[in-house]
Amino acid sequence: MIVMKFGGTSVEDAAAMANVCGIVKSRIKRQPVVVLSAASGVTNALIRCAELAAEGKRIEAEAVLREKIIDRHYRMIAELIRGLSEQDQLIRQFKIFDEELRSLLYGISITGDLSPRVLDFVMSYGERMLTVILTEALREHKLRAELMDSRKCIVTGSAFGKAEPIFPATQEACEAQLRPRLDKGIVPVMQGFIGANEQGVTTTLGRGGSDYSAAIIGTVMNAEDIEIWTDVDGMLTADPNIVPTALRIREMSFREASELAFFGAKVLHPSTVLPAIEKDIPVHILNSRRPQISGTLIKAQIAQAAIAVKSISYKRGISILNISSTRMLGSYGFMKKIFDIFNEHQTAVDLVTTSEVSISLSIEHSPDLDRLVGKLREYGEITVQRNKAIICIVGERLRAERGIAARVFSRLRDVPVDMISHGASEINLTFVIDEDRVPEAVLELHDEFFSNISEPGVFE
Ligand code: ADP
Ligand code: ASP
Ligand code: MG
Repeated sequence: MIVMKFGGTSVEDAAAMANVCGIVKSRIKRQPVVVLSAASGVTNALIRCAELAAEGKRIEAEAVLREKIIDRHYRMIAELIRGLSEQDQLIRQFKIFDEELRSLLYGISITGDLSPRVLDFVMSYGERMLTVILTEALREHKLRAELMDSRKCIVTGSAFGKAEPIFPATQEACEAQLRPRLDKGIVPVMQGFIGANEQGVTTTLGRGGSDYSAAIIGTVMNAEDIEIWTDVDGMLTADPNIVPTALRIREMSFREASELAFFGAKVLHPSTVLPAIEKDIPVHILNSRRPQISGTLIKAQIAQAAIAVKSISYKRGISILNISSTRMLGSYGFMKKIFDIFNEHQTAVDLVTTSEVSISLSIEHSPDLDRLVGKLREYGEITVQRNKAIICIVGERLRAERGIAARVFSRLRDVPVDMISHGASEINLTFVIDEDRVPEAVLELHDEFFSNISEPGVFE
């Protein structure tokens, strides 16, 4: 079997959805499980509705719900589904979705309470609504599609908003729900992004989490392939929004893809390749608008590229914390205390540099930052630098090739650099700069490493 995940941009309107049906049909012999995210912009619109309701602006919230969410799906049904009775049935189903969401917004507006648990439930409608429509569309394409509820398949912990799967329970549930259907030639259609905890309460895997859903399902079902269908030709040498001439990378290792996703390449959720690594399942990134292109293949062993740098990514919204204390000098246990505080505040640290009496750490900006800083003050003097960004250069051969760092920093001689980490992972070179210098830095570096390469086997 294979897993085929379609992202929001692949399913933004009726034409895109019809295209997806054709792509699924082309893979039918490989027993696909289809994983779908919400139509592009719908998750953001759902969050907006919930926030408006929590501010007591119920009328505005309902207007967003109607204009940005419900009407859009009605249009999709009208344009995509030909059978009149099937259309009617879908419209009836959407009336229920609409009523449920309005009741939820009403509840949120009365209590003013928008907990992560409630928000997860609200967000789950994006994926749940679209899978209903796609299932019907696949049936009209003569496929035996069946709508599944991912909350009965993906079992997670209870960290609402960023839940982690519980693999043994997920494996058992997926085997029970999916295998018998696949054996009968049925195409299961599942929601990405959502799951449920052991009590059956709806959870989500974090923004962009449908990629992760696909990888989890692929891994527990021992898939031959995990296909991530999106709106670009594959993993590119840089974000195409900054570098329109970015090249497609034909093959990359799990390690490279994982570093790039972690450091901001939005095309993959950062956790996507982790479960696939364990069972060595290849992950393909493919373009649903140009399915004939072979995309990017991510696997354990890849052909050696002649050029050391594979791709450049960046992550905005970073803060740097500097902690200086003479108590650090010659003492042990200091670092542990510091990291325990980050742990308590569930704040992940990306980069760390130390001197004898100070430590600098980069973290993603969080609403909890002030409280975190307050705690850290007990251990020394703290300064915070906000509006920073991490730039990350990735390639399996980065360490083997000399002079990469020299090329990077001489090319960026006009861009002030705050922190540098090289060698912690042998395949990346990472540093921090001001957020507003990101486009300039990425363009310069792309030009430095990719302006005149010709390795058709690796880049295209
Ligand atoms: P989907 O809705 O399919 O999940 P996303 O918007 O989450 O799509 O991810 C695809 C987008 O990621 C692309 O449209 C592109 O703008 C962005 N992106 C950022 N960095 C890269 C990169 N290195 N390679 C490819 N795409 C990238
Ligand atoms: N719809 C979800 C989001 O917007 C999940 C995803 O797109 O992968 O975050
Ligand atoms: Mg995505």
